[in-house]
Amino acid sequence: MNKRLFKFLSGNIFIVTVFKIIGMLIPSQGKLKKYKNILIATYFIYRRKIKIKNNPISVLIAPISVCNYRCLFCEIHKDNLLFPNRPKNIVGLNVIKNYEAFLSTAYSLSFSGGSEEPLLNQDFAKIVEYLKLKYGIRMMVNTNASVLSKELSDTLVKYGFDSIVVSYHAGSKKAYKELMTGNIDRVDENLEYLKLVRERSKKEKPLVQFNFALQRLNAKEYPIVLKKAKQLGASAVIVNKYYGGRNRLQDKKVSYDYDIEQGNRVLDEIYAYAEAEGVKVVPAKCSRWVREEAEWDSENVDYSKCCTLPWTHLQFKPVLDDENCHYVGICNRIELFKIAYDKIEFKKQKQFEVLWNHPVLQYMRKTVNSISEINPICKYCKNRDREVIRNVDSLKYAAVRDQATREFFTEFRNQYNYSEIEGINVLSENPSSDEKFLEKLAEMEA
Ligand code: SF4
Ligand code: SF4
Repeated sequence: MNKRLFKFLSGNIFIVTVFKIIGMLIPSQGKLKKYKNILIATYFIYRRKIKIKNNPISVLIAPISVCNYRCLFCEIHKDNLLFPNRPKNIVGLNVIKNYEAFLSTAYSLSFSGGSEEPLLNQDFAKIVEYLKLKYGIRMMVNTNASVLSKELSDTLVKYGFDSIVVSYHAGSKKAYKELMTGNIDRVDENLEYLKLVRERSKKEKPLVQFNFALQRLNAKEYPIVLKKAKQLGASAVIVNKYYGGRNRLQDKKVSYDYDIEQGNRVLDEIYAYAEAEGVKVVPAKCSRWVREEAEWDSENVDYSKCCTLPWTHLQFKPVLDDENCHYVGICNRIELFKIAYDKIEFKKQKQFEVLWNHPVLQYMRKTVNSISEINPICKYCKNRDREVIRNVDSLKYAAVRDQATREFFTEFRNQYNYSEIEGINVLSENPSSDEKFLEKLAEMEA
């Protein structure tokens, strides 16, 4: 759904009132539920209600906690170091049915998040079939496509799975093996087959896009990546700027944030080459590096940024040191809850509302767009220096984020009295803070 359009619609009193009336008239059934939910949501966003009757419009679920690759640029190395024998936390069809209260009303569901390969989940095809037939939900997945089997491709085309983003950070066999640790021939064969089934069935879905995060080690790979995109039926190549993290490239300064002139030259070459080859690149307008100084000013906040995620989005990521548990949040800045999905049910609306209208989410909705009462994590999120710090001073970035997270929970507990609910634990800090990582690393080295 177009986010800008949605924000515009939910900012007009006449439109939201009409939408609410139409929403109330739409029967709460099968594939219609998601439209009813969107229409009603506009009213609760406009009124800035803190207890709401709409459900999330978009949901993200990481359906497993492991991956068959060991990409050098991925934080999976951190996960493997800290939790080498972690539970797989596979989200089977039974878990999807347990989350049915809000999946039945969601417009879109994304299978991504964390360092994991969603297609390793053996129930993936069953989940797609179930959710498409019953609710017609839009679905997308982020994958390395190495285990995209023929059977799964058949299912995805048959049920109109919507979109696949393939991690394709190198195009040659050698560079792919070195950087992504897998066999590119297998990936290409899988994508070739998917293209064939789509053509045979005369269907456009699933739409395939390549994801290419530019950095020094893959800069020479772009011509082959763009050519393969065309050859394998990808509709576009998403060009991202790689930035650092806790991974195997950490100390190698591969990010072009350290040499933005060269980075911008490569970006220009990519866009020119793509145009000549007739390959679509996302974003359509090249987003160049800009030299900015990395000074953190905690008051450099852009209060005009309006965020609607506490009304519209919910995400579930695996807990790496506990079985059958998810961290739940509304964005990538902060995890809010740890839930045990084998102990709690969200099959019925009333059960789900215990989570969705939990005091933590009420606090979020009350403070996210406030100037005088903005909560610490949203204040950090809206800081104009945040992205620059993230790219050039990751230690500072992590320290500021972890501190803001702690302050968020302290403020929440100062302002709200709430009773503990079995199976839903409110967190107190970032469960995967950099501090914890460094502590564990020191312990292991000792
Ligand atoms: S395929 Fe994705 S999740 Fe797996 S190691 Fe590579 S980047 Fe990480
Ligand atoms: S931290 Fe706050 S402002 Fe940022 S995305 Fe999350 S809810 Fe929105």
